[in-house]
Amino acid sequence: MANMQPEKTKMPEQDAKLRASNFEEVALGYTEEMAINEANRCIQCKHKPCIAGCPVEIDIPAFIKLISEGKHIEAYKKIRETNGLPAICGRVCPQEEQCEIVCVRGIKHEPVAIGRLERYCADVAINEGVGPITCKRHCGKKAAVIGSGPAGLTCALDLAKQGVDVTIFEAFHTPGGVLKYGIPEFRLPKALVQKEIDTLTDMGVEIKTNMVMGKILDIDDLKEMGFASIFIGTGAGLPRFMNIPGENFNGVYSANEFLTRINLMKGYLYPSHDTPIVHHKKLAVIGGGNVAMDAARCAKRLGADNVYIVYRRSEAEMPARNEEIEHAKEEGIEFHLLINPTEIHGNEAGDVTGMRLQKMELGEPDDSGRRRPVPIEGSEYDLELDAVVVAIGQSPNPLMRESTPGLKTQSWGGIITDEATGATSIPGVYAGGDAVTGAATVILAMGAGKDAARAMMDYMLNE
Ligand code: FAD
Ligand code: SF4
Repeated sequence: MANMQPEKTKMPEQDAKLRASNFEEVALGYTEEMAINEANRCIQCKHKPCIAGCPVEIDIPAFIKLISEGKHIEAYKKIRETNGLPAICGRVCPQEEQCEIVCVRGIKHEPVAIGRLERYCADVAINEGVGPITCKRHCGKKAAVIGSGPAGLTCALDLAKQGVDVTIFEAFHTPGGVLKYGIPEFRLPKALVQKEIDTLTDMGVEIKTNMVMGKILDIDDLKEMGFASIFIGTGAGLPRFMNIPGENFNGVYSANEFLTRINLMKGYLYPSHDTPIVHHKKLAVIGGGNVAMDAARCAKRLGADNVYIVYRRSEAEMPARNEEIEHAKEEGIEFHLLINPTEIHGNEAGDVTGMRLQKMELGEPDDSGRRRPVPIEGSEYDLELDAVVVAIGQSPNPLMRESTPGLKTQSWGGIITDEATGATSIPGVYAGGDAVTGAATVILAMGAGKDAARAMMDYMLNE
């Protein structure tokens, strides 16, 4: 009998006051009892719209049924049939906009907590240990994957499953892309990301780090080295700035730099380890997406007294996940909404001292469908600060497009591909994830990696 409880089974969390000063995970995960209770909320409905709502088409009702029967490892294996990174997706996927938004239980009440259940069985399976994913016999083909974010990792995994000899080339000293350098430890522990990456190396995928492709090797070099097909998954790590006066003062960071210093240079071990980030006391983050929330919540954990989110529209237009906005508020982040920065102030030493802000009101919808913020004349005021983090978006990394003659790109830098296959303008070269779309989501990057792996397989076998 299905459990008709109207709300999702709550997931325990670290207390807001406590967690605002540590980098340990905020959400603590379900116990077995909670997971089975939640799994029983799924009515195994006839049309199962949740499956089509998932960009990698996990058989959601099947894995949920296995959890309800206490078969957690089997549930994990069921997810892994189409998704190589379940512990990651269970934590950071925007399920509320994908599988959960179409869940039949969500019509009258809250949908089934699909993401929390995915996280639960992945954590159980990783702790208990499951064998490596089985691969077909080696098919005699070699493929290269450039970039080790979710797009590259998924493409590599799906190719390896088909018996392809895969090498990943990653610019950083550690693989994982945004999963390691962007999303903070308190949302996605690095050790866990590494465990999911270890699954790939256990399957024989080679990962070469410190390989800045386009500088060290280019596409022609890879072809000469015998790689029959190449996937570009280099992400969107090029920060955008506002181009307002004062952006060159010391203490102005792009969100990417700020988060990379914390995540890859072990700033998250503060206060037990020293951190390569100055401990700012009054810091403003400009932007309203997940990246802005992550930067603000990290700043708080590094000891800032006042952390402000400055966003030019209202909360309803904020692109960040609701959960992240709520968590940020609970942790004491102060929101300045309908506010736009016009200038950053600094002192003679070149350090940030504050920011000039202007109040806005919402006008008619713009091209994005969101109401356009319009400045209110004479409403300017100053905010005292010692740091500013700019989190207003990123563009695709430029190196591959600059070093690959014939690779067609959009005016804003995204690689142009065939939507269904990821094929680029160069035969045998495929691309996907943020390198194509600009900043998007983990699961969309994974979906693109999967599509490209399928097309690369066809290309290599028919070559
Ligand atoms: P990336 O993850 O960016 O990986 C690209 C990799 O390519 C990187 O490792 C990079 O070092 C490497 N690379 C770049 N250039 C080269 C080169 N020339 N040679 C070799 N390697 C290269 N999405 C969600 O779904 N949920 C969230 O909660 C969420 N939070 C986010 C928080 C932050 C702070 C950020 C920045 C993004 C967040 N996103 C979130 C978005 C999501 O992480 C990205 O959409 C996703 O990681 C894109 O995957 P990708 O593989 O295309 O690129
Ligand atoms: Fe279960 Fe909801 Fe999927 Fe239906 S839509 S099978 S109720 S999770």
